[in-house]
Amino acid sequence: MSTALSKTASIGIIGAGTMGAGIVAVALRAGHAVYLHDTRQQALTQGAESVTASLDRWVKRGHLTARQRDECLARLTLAAELSELSACALVVEAIIENLEIKQQLFSALEAVVGEHTILASNTSSISITAIAATLQRPQRMVGMHFFNPATVLPLVEVVKGEATCATVVAQVSELATQWGKCPVECKSTPGFIVNRVARPFYAEALLGLEDQVAPAAVIDAALRDAGGFRMGPLELMDLIGHDTNFAVTRSIYDAFFQDPRYRPSLTQKALVDAGWLGRKTGRGFYRYDPGSTPDAITYEAACPQPKLVQQFGDFPGAQTVRHVAEEHGCHIERHNGDGYLMVDGVQLRPCLGLTALALATAQELDQVVLFDASTHLEAASLVVLSGADTCRRASLDSVVGFFQALGKQVVIIDDVAGMLVTRTLCMLANEAAQAVSQGIATAQAVDLAMLKGVNYPVGPLAWADAFGNHNVVTVLDNLARACPDGRYRANALLRRKALTNTPWNHAE
Ligand code: NAD
Repeated sequence: MSTALSKTASIGIIGAGTMGAGIVAVALRAGHAVYLHDTRQQALTQGAESVTASLDRWVKRGHLTARQRDECLARLTLAAELSELSACALVVEAIIENLEIKQQLFSALEAVVGEHTILASNTSSISITAIAATLQRPQRMVGMHFFNPATVLPLVEVVKGEATCATVVAQVSELATQWGKCPVECKSTPGFIVNRVARPFYAEALLGLEDQVAPAAVIDAALRDAGGFRMGPLELMDLIGHDTNFAVTRSIYDAFFQDPRYRPSLTQKALVDAGWLGRKTGRGFYRYDPGSTPDAITYEAACPQPKLVQQFGDFPGAQTVRHVAEEHGCHIERHNGDGYLMVDGVQLRPCLGLTALALATAQELDQVVLFDASTHLEAASLVVLSGADTCRRASLDSVVGFFQALGKQVVIIDDVAGMLVTRTLCMLANEAAQAVSQGIATAQAVDLAMLKGVNYPVGPLAWADAFGNHNVVTVLDNLARACPDGRYRANALLRRKALTNTPWNHAE
C-alpha cells in the first residue's frame, strides 16, 4: 500500500490531551516532524507545555541533550486547522472516547490527507472495525493503542480491524519499534489484549472482598507479596480510579453480550455511586486523606519450626518449595504419594481449587491446610494459607512455623475455593488462552502485552506452563463446580494443552 514510514515522514496527532501529548513527545524524539491538532486552542497550548515537560524530563535523565530537545520542539507544529495535516504519512487520533465523534473526525480527515496516509486510533475500547466503517478506504485504518504515560510505557497494541490491510499493520508495528516501543499485533476485540486479559486480576479480588475471604489489605498483600504482582488489585483500582476501571469493565461486559466471565462488581459500583473513586478523591478501598494511616495487616505471630516435614509425591511448585527449604536448612523427606507435604502430621497441599474442608472431608482427615500459589516463591515475602474448619489451631501453627522457617511472613485467609492468588492466576491464564484460541493474538503476543503493558511478573501462559496446564484446568473445573454460572469455564485450547502436555509458545 504506502511506502515505509521513515524518520522523514510527517506524523499528525489529533487530540492534545493526556495521550496525544505523550505520543507527540515520542514521535518528536524519534525524529519526525509532528503536526498536533485539537479543536480547542487552550488544549493545544497545554499540550505543547506537556510535550516540553516530557522532553525536559528526558534531558534531565540524560536521554536527550538540550540541543536535541530544541530540535524536537522546532519540528512541532500546533495546527489549529485539520487541513494542516494534509502531508502526514500517519495520523494518530487521541480524542474523546466516542464512536460517532471519532467517525466524523476520520471522515473529515480523509477529505484532507493523501490516499496512502495511514489512519490510526488510540482508542482503548471502541472497535477499530466500527471506526473504519464510515471511511472510503477502511483498509488504512488501524488501532495504535498506547498506554498511559505514553512517554514511559513501552507497549503499543497494533489493532487490526476487519478491513485493515496487513501491510498497514506491519508498517505501524515497524514504526512503533523505531520509536523504541514494543508493538504487539492483535485483532480488534473488546479490550484488545491487555484490558481484556487483565479483567480477572480485578474481578477475582472484588469477588474475594465480597465473599469476605480477607480484608482489602490482605487481598492486596496476597497478590503483591505472595503473587509477585507490582501492586495489589484493590490498590491498583484505587490508583486507576473506580470510575475508569468500572467503565472499562462494563464496556467489555456489554461488548461480550453479558458473558458472566466479565460481570462487573456491585462492590465497585457502590464505590462509584458514593463518589469514592480512589486516590483522586481521597477515598476508595483505602483512605488517602491527610492523617489517614494505611490499613494494618495481621501477620501470624512467630510459631516454632516443625520437627518433621515429608513430601508425598509431586505437586505444582514442589521443586521450588524443596529448594527454598534446603536454602533455609530445612530437610524434607521424600515418599510416594499423590502430591502433598506432611508437616508434623498436618497435611499441607497446594491450592487446586477445592477448599481445605472438601479435601479433609473426602479423605476423612481433619488436619488439612492449603497454601496459595506464587509466581516466584523464592522472592515472595508472604505465604497465604487456609485451613479446613476441622483443623486445630495447633495444626495451623505447625504450617505457619514451617513457612516462617523459610523466611516468609504468613497470613491465613478464609477457606474458599481457589483461595486468592491461585484463582486469579488461573483465570488470567484462561482469559489469555481464550484470546489465543479465538485468534486475537499469538500466545507470545499475549504474554508480551501483559509483561510490557501492565508489568506482570510473568506472562499468564508462561505461568500456566510452569504450574501445569492440567493443574490450571483442575482449578478452573473445581471453581466452576463451586460457582456454576459459566464464569470459570475452561477454554477448549487450554484443555487440549493440558491433555497433550504441550506448552504455549509464550514470550520469555
Ligand atoms: P483527554 O481528555 O486528555 O484529551 C482529549 C483531547 O481531545 C482534548 O484536548 C479535546 O479537546 C480533544 N478533542 C476532543 N474532540 C476533538 C475533535 N473532534 N477534534 C480534535 N480534538 C478533539 O483524553 P485522553 O485521556 O488523552 O484520551 C484520548 C484517547 O486515548 C481516548 O480514545 C482514550 O480512550 C484513549 N486512551 C486513553 C488512555 C488514558 O489512560 N487516558 C490510555 C490509552 C488510550
